[in-house]
Amino acid sequence: MVDFSFSEEEEVFRQSLRDLLAEILAPRAREIDTERRIPDDVIRALADNGILCMTMKPEHGGSGASWVLGTIAIEEIARADPSVATAVFVLVENSWGKILDLYGRDDVAREVLSAAARGEGFVGINSTEPQSGSDVAGFTTRAVRDGDHWVINGEKAFISGIAEAQRLGGGYITVVKTRPEAGSRGITLFYVPIDAPGITVGFYEDMGRNGLSTGWMKLKDVRIPDEYRIGEVDQGFKLAMEGFNRARIFVSAGCLGSAEAMLEYTAEYARNRVVFNRPLAKFEGIQFPLVDAWTELEATKLMIYKAAWAMDQYDAGRATLWEAARWAAMAKLLAPERSVDAIKEFMKVAGAYGYTKDSPLEMAFRGVMSYFVGAEGGQNIMRLILARELVGKENLPYK
Ligand SMILES: Cc1cc2nc3c(=O)[nH]c(=O)nc-3n(C[C@H](O)[C@H](O)[C@H](O)COP(=O)(O)OP(=O)(O)OC[C@H]3O[C@@H](n4cnc5c(N)ncnc54)[C@H](O)[C@@H]3O)c2cc1C
Repeated sequence: MVDFSFSEEEEVFRQSLRDLLAEILAPRAREIDTERRIPDDVIRALADNGILCMTMKPEHGGSGASWVLGTIAIEEIARADPSVATAVFVLVENSWGKILDLYGRDDVAREVLSAAARGEGFVGINSTEPQSGSDVAGFTTRAVRDGDHWVINGEKAFISGIAEAQRLGGGYITVVKTRPEAGSRGITLFYVPIDAPGITVGFYEDMGRNGLSTGWMKLKDVRIPDEYRIGEVDQGFKLAMEGFNRARIFVSAGCLGSAEAMLEYTAEYARNRVVFNRPLAKFEGIQFPLVDAWTELEATKLMIYKAAWAMDQYDAGRATLWEAARWAAMAKLLAPERSVDAIKEFMKVAGAYGYTKDSPLEMAFRGVMSYFVGAEGGQNIMRLILARELVGKENLPYK
């Protein structure tokens, strides 16, 4: 049986979160973009309401929320802060923190994730390097065992949340090579605290999503105890892929939420703006692109929630990760492109006003562009993942 309705619990959660965010987040969205910082009281309020690490196990500070519930949360947060900065802060923790929650040592996961759940830490992902983004196995950061420690050397790039981790505490799920000659079979994950000796950081100035920092991190002889290893030695590639797939669903919900909020904003704008003695909304030339965008966003939403549902099936042992990954890749393929396209149309409807900072449209546009260009895997990488299934690995130029 196909049932497209949300459960009562999910509906109640969505509505109460929407009400909360209308009070604590929506009025601060422009400030977050301008000040380039999510205010501590917003983070605290999200923590107090159990949102920051909601997908973690209760013993690690979460509530074991389903992926569907997490997706609802991210969609709603991006509706309230359409720059997507706050949504990304929350989604990175909920998706990558989940890898520590599931595969990390229990005492480490409890300590790190409980702090993050209280808003006293940020947990991010340290995968990309200056010379390897899309080619996730092509990086060079290396860990060498030294007794009951590991010594890490290398450099990571375009990492979200470095300033937030420095401010709040916390650290990164870090992807390193432990057997470089073995390619993807020689990768291990470690939790690396941001204040570990040997780490130096710097920052990029992004075009959007300004409330959340993006930076680089150099690791020089960083010593990490073996307890901070996540999963088995040399088995990290699979866990990293799981993290990416989990994150892609939330990322898609972030783009969607931002575009949905902008659709409502633009429809309202068109009702109120008078041109040629009539409301703008009276003209079919204005109605049609809005309706087209609405339809595209609804189709995207179906794909996103199908992917979230499939991830819940995987978590319940009723599906393989690949089954969820396939829909996650399709969701990530659709959501940033459709959201960027939709917001571009909305800017046309709002005319010159949409080009100013008095309107949230330009902020939303700059924010969702971060996922259009690449974060959590570029669009062509989603296509490559899907092509592997459709035409077979042997027909692709890459293995
Ligand atoms: C705002 C922001 C935040 C980010 N946060 C993080 C983070 O927290 N942690 C982290 O680890 N990384 C982060 N990233 C990095 C992100 O994961 C990478 O940008 C992404 O993996 C793409 O890598 P790249 O930018 O090096 O692009 P490249 O790998 O250089 O690719 C460039 C372009 O070529 C396309 N391409 C690549 N290979 C192929 C191919 N074989 N066939 C066809 N097309 C191809 C890609 O889709 C892309 O469009 C962030 C990026 C951004 C923009």
